[in-house]
Amino acid sequence: MASPCEPEQVPDCRAILGEGAIWNRALERLHWIDIEGRRVFTYDPATGENRAYDVGQKVGTVVPRARGGLMLALHEGFATLDLDSGRVAPLPRPPEHDPAIVRFNDGKCDPAGRFWAGTMALVKGPKPLGRLHRLDADGSMHVMLRDVATSNGIGWSLDRRTLYFIDTPLRRVDAFNYDDATGAITSRRAVITVPPDLGRPDGSTIDAEDMIWVAMFEGWGVTRWNPRTGELLQTIRLPVARVTSCAFGAPDLDTLYITSARAGLTDEQLAAQPLAGCLFKVRPGVRGVPAFAYQG
Ligand code: CA
Repeated sequence: MASPCEPEQVPDCRAILGEGAIWNRALERLHWIDIEGRRVFTYDPATGENRAYDVGQKVGTVVPRARGGLMLALHEGFATLDLDSGRVAPLPRPPEHDPAIVRFNDGKCDPAGRFWAGTMALVKGPKPLGRLHRLDADGSMHVMLRDVATSNGIGWSLDRRTLYFIDTPLRRVDAFNYDDATGAITSRRAVITVPPDLGRPDGSTIDAEDMIWVAMFEGWGVTRWNPRTGELLQTIRLPVARVTSCAFGAPDLDTLYITSARAGLTDEQLAAQPLAGCLFKVRPGVRGVPAFAYQG
């Protein structure tokens, strides 16, 4: 039997570019996505079933919706997904969003139930073309940040006063003062700097001790940090290089689910990483906190 800190592969859960892990408390299911495979998954740990929904375009992230079903950030913009019919219904195009040059990537809901999701350029250019968008419960959409290169992990401190944000090429976790009443963010500053040998910071999640977990792309693992001191606290190694997102799940929120990618690997690298693209789980000895649902 694996030791508590030894990640295990979740059977029959494979993706090209796995991402977006998030636990749905109401359904007791893990949602996750395959960006390249254009699919959203709903994994039931009780039965092992991993239901796949083809959403027809690249999908950047998924969050639960309080009234039922899911919210997606697709390549072209926000959408709803009905879990019974599989029907995808797009919302109006977000402001300043041009799907010819950027696509949606990572995102999460804030404690007040607004859905934040960012974008990344489809081709490399001299200037960061991404944005961080916010979809409010009333359906209004707001551009919260510009000049973003690759919008990735996002999360909130337990006191709901700080937003953490990762723009991957900066190799940092940045913090903002966050106003839960209005959704405004101010006073950006770097709180964690990731050394190059750890890989590139990708998806993230907060645990019950207010520490932040970061998936390390090309870093063979997930890392736990204290965002008040910038200190690296723990590393969980994985048998795959491209580790993309992590989220606490299971009814007690004691299991960390971790996604990975095989996209972009050479045949030689794939031979050395036969589990690339798999979903993993581990019990790291700390619990998570419930993810917030979209309130619109
Ligand atoms: Ca990501």
